[in-house]
Amino acid sequence: MKTAAPYAWQQAQWQALQQRRSAASLPHALLLSGPAGVGKLDFARRLAESLLCEHPGRDGEPCGQCRSCRLFQAGNHPDFHLTQPPDAGKEITVGAIRELVANQTLTPQYGRGRVAIIEPAERMNANAANALLKTLEEPSAGTVLLLLVSRPAMLLPTIRSRCQQLLFPPQHTGAALDWLATQLGDSGQATLTLAIAGGAPLRARAMAEEGAVERRRTLFDDFVATAECRKDPVAVAAEWGQFVTTDMLWTVAGWYADMVRLRIAGSSAQLSNPDLRERLQALTEHVDLADLFQQLERLHETLRLMRGQLNSQLVCEELLLGWSSSRRVERQ
Ligand SMILES: [Zn+2]
Repeated sequence: MKTAAPYAWQQAQWQALQQRRSAASLPHALLLSGPAGVGKLDFARRLAESLLCEHPGRDGEPCGQCRSCRLFQAGNHPDFHLTQPPDAGKEITVGAIRELVANQTLTPQYGRGRVAIIEPAERMNANAANALLKTLEEPSAGTVLLLLVSRPAMLLPTIRSRCQQLLFPPQHTGAALDWLATQLGDSGQATLTLAIAGGAPLRARAMAEEGAVERRRTLFDDFVATAECRKDPVAVAAEWGQFVTTDMLWTVAGWYADMVRLRIAGSSAQLSNPDLRERLQALTEHVDLADLFQQLERLHETLRLMRGQLNSQLVCEELLLGWSSSRRVERQ
């Protein structure tokens, strides 16, 4: 599968790795770290294709013509291994890691070494992570292992410390914004969508395509209505439970974070939801800062623990009941 990577906002990372490759100092294990939707998997696949290519260009671009490139694009290169959870929300098991490790120790069929990707690496369960540790300590010659992670804190410190980190920071301006504006055909929409997506351009494009920006508006209207006692939090939670995804709950967490920012830094605070500034400002005026922190912390904890396997309605109910009662207490 041919990808557009490296994207315009990934040129520095690409060049740094290609320079190290020319100097024969590419590390055995790299930890590609950055928010989901910033394009790490496309980048890693492109890097794998480049490392396996028989005639890469001067900038490391794979030629696209050789035997290796053709096999890679057809998705059956024998020296490439991609490990992902069997389903969204599931763990990467020890069996999957053992398979990867066995693959890495084979002699490369095309002589350019072996490349493996684990994505997302924080989904490895404890046994899987321990099985990987041995390989990280004693890597086979000519192998490159790429671990992709959006929440590095969830990875075992012993794994983190054995990899070289390559950061893919959130993007809010420049090349990423230009790219998104071209994709959406609307530069005004691009700035807002990129902000809502936390600076992850591919996630922003997906959100725009799924109509998530409009749905977020509806959710926010409900959020305000429960605070003002115009809607029953339990009824709203039942409604949200029908369609709310983990991703959307992260969006709600973003409102809390913005309210905290507004309380601490005042009206000049940098927000993830700039279009909701005035309405968020109005909400913060009647909520206790400690309460906001506590609810944000609890929501983060729930989302971390559930790892995608959430009972949406229960989570929404706890969220909205907590939110509406914190407003009521304040009013008394
Ligand atoms: Zn090639």
